[in-house]
Amino acid sequence: MAEPITIAAASLNAAGLIKKYWKEALICLVIISLIPAYIITAAINILFPQVSKEEFTTYKTLTETTGINWYSFMAYDTVRLDNYLKDNNQAEGVFDLLRVRFKEYEIIETEKEITKTVNGKKVTEMITQKEYILIRNIEIHRYGPIKELLLSLNYPPTEENITIKEATAFFSEIDKKDEYEIETSILTDDETTEDFDENHKQWYEALSEILPLLDPTAEFDPDEYIIPELSLNPSIPSIWPTQGTITSEFGEIRPTHTHNGIDIANTTGTPIYATASGTVIAVGSSGNFGKRIMIYHGTDNTGTTYVTIYAHLSQFSVSVGDKITQGTLIALMGSTGYSTGPHLHYEIRLNATPINPRILLP
Ligand SMILES: [Zn+2]
Repeated sequence: MAEPITIAAASLNAAGLIKKYWKEALICLVIISLIPAYIITAAINILFPQVSKEEFTTYKTLTETTGINWYSFMAYDTVRLDNYLKDNNQAEGVFDLLRVRFKEYEIIETEKEITKTVNGKKVTEMITQKEYILIRNIEIHRYGPIKELLLSLNYPPTEENITIKEATAFFSEIDKKDEYEIETSILTDDETTEDFDENHKQWYEALSEILPLLDPTAEFDPDEYIIPELSLNPSIPSIWPTQGTITSEFGEIRPTHTHNGIDIANTTGTPIYATASGTVIAVGSSGNFGKRIMIYHGTDNTGTTYVTIYAHLSQFSVSVGDKITQGTLIALMGSTGYSTGPHLHYEIRLNATPINPRILLP
């Protein structure tokens, strides 16, 4: 007859435990109920990534320390890469897209006696008043003036120092000092038009197309774009990307634009292949292109960068960052974006300028 007593004792014991530890139990319950939310968030990030987490963290840190939009940094880095490819001089043109407003003040401190009332009593106190007298006010967005400015601040503009990260870190450092005020921002499209050469303009236009997609706070867009690792051994896009009928050639004059690629028509679902080895740099939707893929194939010793674009797709078979070989199945044909029927719009870009794909096709 020992059993019921044991059970009763155990129940009493349990009741006592609940009474004693109800707060802890409640906390545990809350934590357990939060787990599904964490899992869902993680799953969303995995299924619909924006930029790689590591890259995002780097740019996010830079944003927090400098106040510049983080995707602008990505743009600067991309432009720097472009400049590097163009003339193999990393130090030139870093700030082509960056406007720096620099102000330097002379601070005159004066001691002043003030009287205030504390608890009905009059108290006299000495305070320091600061007067800022502007002695330098510079607005720059070219490498030359920045170089002079850094020299004047005793910061040697060596090649290592004039990377966007180094210079930004330096600016951020002197910005903390009272006598300097530095404001940086990215130039608008109109502002860059004036003194940009044609290559830069095209590159910038390509960037502005991509930049909104990089903003993780923007409305959801499954698009993603990465800046690939530089490959100096390019693979030349030299095979046909799909089978079908050529319905439009490169250079065809249209009412609104000139055709920048070649159109190959076939049925929806026809396989599309990478025309050269490379890294997938963009997968997603982009305006008239509809669902499109961009692949970086490398850069040759003259600085020419090879990129191919496959547009109006119905389905993707690769993801951003994938390293693929020539002939890899990358997508299926479709009619997404501005398209009148299932076809592939295929483009080859050399330094962001479309060329006739037939030049490189067999
Ligand atoms: Zn087309």
